[in-house]
Amino acid sequence: MRNRFFDVVILGAGPAGMLAAICLARAGKKVALLDRPAGQNKSLEYTKVGESVPAAINVFLQKLNLNLVDATIHRPIPGSDSLWAGEQLQQDSIQHSQGMGWRLDRIEFEKDLLRQAIQSGAELLPALLHNSHHDGTRWQLKIDTNECIESEFTVDASGRTAVLARKSGSMRIKGPPLVALWAVGQPAETYTAQTLTESQANGWWYGAHLPDGRPLAIFHTSARYAAELSHQPEKWWKQFSSTYLLQKKINSQTLHNAELKINEARTTSLQQPYGDYWAACGDAALSFDPLSSQGIFNALASAHMLSQAILNPDRQAAMQGYSEQLGKIADIYQLRRLQYYQRAYEFHGHEFWKEQLAGAHR
Ligand SMILES: Cc1cc2nc3c(=O)[nH]c(=O)nc-3n(C[C@H](O)[C@H](O)[C@H](O)COP(=O)(O)OP(=O)(O)OC[C@H]3O[C@@H](n4cnc5c(N)ncnc54)[C@H](O)[C@@H]3O)c2cc1C
Repeated sequence: MRNRFFDVVILGAGPAGMLAAICLARAGKKVALLDRPAGQNKSLEYTKVGESVPAAINVFLQKLNLNLVDATIHRPIPGSDSLWAGEQLQQDSIQHSQGMGWRLDRIEFEKDLLRQAIQSGAELLPALLHNSHHDGTRWQLKIDTNECIESEFTVDASGRTAVLARKSGSMRIKGPPLVALWAVGQPAETYTAQTLTESQANGWWYGAHLPDGRPLAIFHTSARYAAELSHQPEKWWKQFSSTYLLQKKINSQTLHNAELKINEARTTSLQQPYGDYWAACGDAALSFDPLSSQGIFNALASAHMLSQAILNPDRQAAMQGYSEQLGKIADIYQLRRLQYYQRAYEFHGHEFWKEQLAGAHR
């Protein structure tokens, strides 16, 4: 039996993979979108972390005729409230030229993207990539249903695992270690629409209420301290209870005994986000410190840029242009990130802050 052939196989059905699938399928390419099947740890039922997006996302999606940020599902963010190195700062979204950002219902947002990808003609293959090699003409991709599929081009949109980029030997540049420990609590009577951030000696907190009213609290800290906290959730909760701003706006009892989850959150980038017949987008190519709230927007924007490069008749030159664009985004982001960490001068003597400030990349 002959293997099935696709013009483009996309590894990963996160925001980046799904947007790339939409753009390429709309342009007439035969596209397969590969991701884990439902019930296998990660699926659309799996709760992903990351939900605050800038106002620019709406303009970007509307230009692609995608009206995915519906105010009946997602909630506008009127501003932020931060306690950073003892200084309390409130920012109103009205000061931003593009208006309010959005707190997404991440599951609904991704379901909508998947629907659009399938409507555009992409085929969802509910499987993981097992093995891959390029035989000089085509990619031979072995998936974990024991099938093999073939493609002319493969997009790595597998998030921070960057599964194909790693296999292809592309060097991954890593920023200072940063680990996020997070929990989603029970809905309470209080609801804060603002984004909350607060620095402490050994890390910083992010807090928000999700569109369905559940509180989310994330502590970003060093790998060493994260390992300690992950074994003692009670300690994480006590650390939360010691915040000033977050614990005023989010009732700490709503988070007590909530399941603690852990994610890698450091900045990473590929030295070369493309190679022969493959390229990466989204977190696989460039992942941000969550302080930036830029991950989802960048996933979508980079997927769009990459699709245009794949469709360009002079693909080699377009790929070089794509790589340069990502480099510029990374430079601007690094500068802003550093400025933010530098502002926490009160804690600069502490190990966590020293590590974050010591060199943007490693
Ligand atoms: C703690 C934390 C908080 C964050 N907060 C925010 C925020 O507020 N705002 C924001 O914009 N961003 C935030 N982010 C970042 C944001 O979640 C990511 O940038 C975004 O999910 C990137 O999208 P992606 O499509 O590139 O990757 P992902 O969403 O990670 O999707 C990758 C997909 O690839 C699949 N995959 C992996 N391996 C394989 C394989 N071998 N075969 C097939 N499929 C595979 C995975 O199952 C997954 O579905 C946060 C991140 C963290 C860690």
